[in-house]
Amino acid sequence: MFLLGDVYKKQTKDEGTPEPTSSPNTSPSPDPPPPEEPTRLLLPLAGDHGAYEFPDPRQRRTQTLIRGDAPMAAADLEIEIVSDSKPAQKVGNPSVAAGEAAAPAAAAPNHIVDVFSASAYGDLQVLRRYVEEDGVSLSKPDANGYYALQWAALNNYSDVAQYIIEHGGDANAADGARQTALHWAAVRGSIAAADVLLDNGARVEAADVNGYRAVHVAAQYGQTGFLNHIVAKHGADFDAGDNDGRTPLHWAAYKGFADTIRLLLFRNAYQGQQDKEGCTPLHWAALRGNVEACTILVHAGTKQELMVKDKSGFTPAQLAADKGQRHVAYILSNAKRLNGNHCGGRLCAGRIATIGYAPILLFLMIILTVLFINSILNAPKFPKITAAVALWGWTAVSLVFGSLLMFYRCSSKDPGYIKSNSRHLDTDGDDPLLDIDLNNSSIWTGNWSQLCPTCKIIRPVRSKHCPTCNHCVEQFDHHCPWISNCVGKRNKWDFYVFVWLGTLTTFLGAAVAAQRMWTGSPEPPFTRSWTHYMFTEHPGAVVFLVVDILIFSGAIALTIAQTSQIAQNITTNELANASRYAYLRGPDGRVRNPYNHGCRKNCTEFLIHGYIKDEEVAWPSLQQATA
Ligand SMILES: [Zn+2]
Ligand SMILES: [Zn+2]
Repeated sequence: MFLLGDVYKKQTKDEGTPEPTSSPNTSPSPDPPPPEEPTRLLLPLAGDHGAYEFPDPRQRRTQTLIRGDAPMAAADLEIEIVSDSKPAQKVGNPSVAAGEAAAPAAAAPNHIVDVFSASAYGDLQVLRRYVEEDGVSLSKPDANGYYALQWAALNNYSDVAQYIIEHGGDANAADGARQTALHWAAVRGSIAAADVLLDNGARVEAADVNGYRAVHVAAQYGQTGFLNHIVAKHGADFDAGDNDGRTPLHWAAYKGFADTIRLLLFRNAYQGQQDKEGCTPLHWAALRGNVEACTILVHAGTKQELMVKDKSGFTPAQLAADKGQRHVAYILSNAKRLNGNHCGGRLCAGRIATIGYAPILLFLMIILTVLFINSILNAPKFPKITAAVALWGWTAVSLVFGSLLMFYRCSSKDPGYIKSNSRHLDTDGDDPLLDIDLNNSSIWTGNWSQLCPTCKIIRPVRSKHCPTCNHCVEQFDHHCPWISNCVGKRNKWDFYVFVWLGTLTTFLGAAVAAQRMWTGSPEPPFTRSWTHYMFTEHPGAVVFLVVDILIFSGAIALTIAQTSQIAQNITTNELANASRYAYLRGPDGRVRNPYNHGCRKNCTEFLIHGYIKDEEVAWPSLQQATA
């Protein structure tokens, strides 16, 4: 999903370079850089789907201009019917795309045989020759009913599109499926071409035979940037339904384009929309087992969407279970339980999830302290305590008070919540996504995952939305149920001190208890009779030791993990999801952490400031990655 930003940049970069028009014929070897194979993906046909099947995009027929190894025959331009070879994958991997496209480049000029191929390959010079010297009309479709303008729009040749419109091409000309050039531009996310079309009178809401508008096509192909652009700049209606009542959100959910879903929800797309079959977007995401899509929809939605039944009477969770999507079914039924509104038990479970285990931890700390004082330090059945052991014992007790203080601080402190934006985006004027420049903005990395559909904000890098707290948290580390709070930028220091104190206290407690039990029995230690003696004479001490060791193991593991993460300046969340975050990837695609200033600097900065500032880093690597 996170590749989409990169893809977008790659495409605009490739197709933005004016090389194709810069005299490909003059230089000897210099193949005009490969335009993407002018593939046009036919959109799904109406009526070929069953009750729960959207038309399978892979069954779409693809039309290509034959290229490369085709002999120079009379029919240079042929229609080849091939199955769609996963377009997302093809463009999703820049290196593959570049490699694939390099091969036909040499042959490309051979395939410019008419105005349509000239438009598809973006060869404005040749196109002009056809029009101005040979007098070819640009207002007529090719043998298949497709217009030159559609081919130019598909591959984002805005100059060619402009030329075609100025020389007789109709911006609203539609092919046999009533698709316009704008539909084709949406397939590849060709923003520049779409601008030319829309500025020259193309209708942004033009619908094809299936009722698909450009917004639907963009959602079907995960063209998030394109969708955002036509909505923000050209006022496209992102809640429009197609002939089956499916909105772009339905399509994005069905196809699992998480970033597109984020954008639509960020713009307040209606989640409760039911199509002809009564399905909401969540139904379709559940049906296809799109885990990330379901998660986003659930977090941004209300419990109402979880309860909606389609025409067959299924809720999204039931539908997922029915179709064998067990992971999704689990997520959805869990969400329903947490959102519970029916029986008392469910409500209870929901409350526990938000309150967390903090009361339990507090209770444990108090009980253990009481046990420690009564059953270990002051237990009358143990021999009199030595001064040294007593000193350690009471040190442990005083550390408990430090722990309690830190526990209170890290659970009550604001972990770095980012203020949410309740204002609706629909109002004209200040759309924050109107002028985003995916390549240059320092607050925008081209990563759509930074849109929070719930808080309606563009959140800073390294922050994450916590569904339990229902806020975005700066430098999100994790949501800790034991403190019933998130650990983030503002309370990480308190948390770190707390786990250290916990480790020390439980260690001292265990050591003192072990010493007392070791020396406090007439039986030799660790024999059967010794164990029996301890259980009968000192049950409190045994319970203390067992629970204390359990807590100690957890605390020391957490301390070690946190220490190593602070030394590397990486959060728990980033460590767990490193491969999903674009900002944690270097130009070569490998995971690397741009925030790591070196162990010494990371540690000193954390200990002094309580967090590590990261405003100035990370961007160079992103720029390199997209250059
Ligand atoms: Zn949020
Ligand atoms: Zn939280």
